[in-house]
Amino acid sequence: MPAECLFCKIVRRGIPAQIVDETDELLAFRDINPQAPVHLLLIPKRHIATLNELKPADAALASRLLLAVPELARREGLAERGYRVVMNCNAEAGQTVFHVHLHLLGGRALGWPPG
Ligand code: AMP
Ligand code: ZN
Repeated sequence: MPAECLFCKIVRRGIPAQIVDETDELLAFRDINPQAPVHLLLIPKRHIATLNELKPADAALASRLLLAVPELARREGLAERGYRVVMNCNAEAGQTVFHVHLHLLGGRALGWPPG
């Protein structure tokens, strides 16, 4: 068995997190090192290491992940003012936790292009 990853530990409450929403398939929690006034992470509970491992069979999960964003954004007061969704894949993009996650960032003006 490979060692359990950090986000799998959060899913099973092995380490604490500020959880803001949960379904049977998804978990949303606050990033421990926020890069904006609002910085949420939204993850599938099932371990998928990177976007490269996402399969056609994961279509429903992937769509629910994306469809969860507008409601989270509304609740955080970001829907009208604007927000950014980021998914980093592998080293050059800066992925540090190898369990697929979507960053939801907002609450300040966000520069473009990103670093
Ligand atoms: P990435 O660089 O795209 O892999 O993003 C990983 C994110 O996980 C970073 O923004 C980290 O700040 C965040 N992170 C790391 N450990 C924790 C934790 N224990 N709880 C919440 N967020 C975390
Ligand atoms: Zn995991």
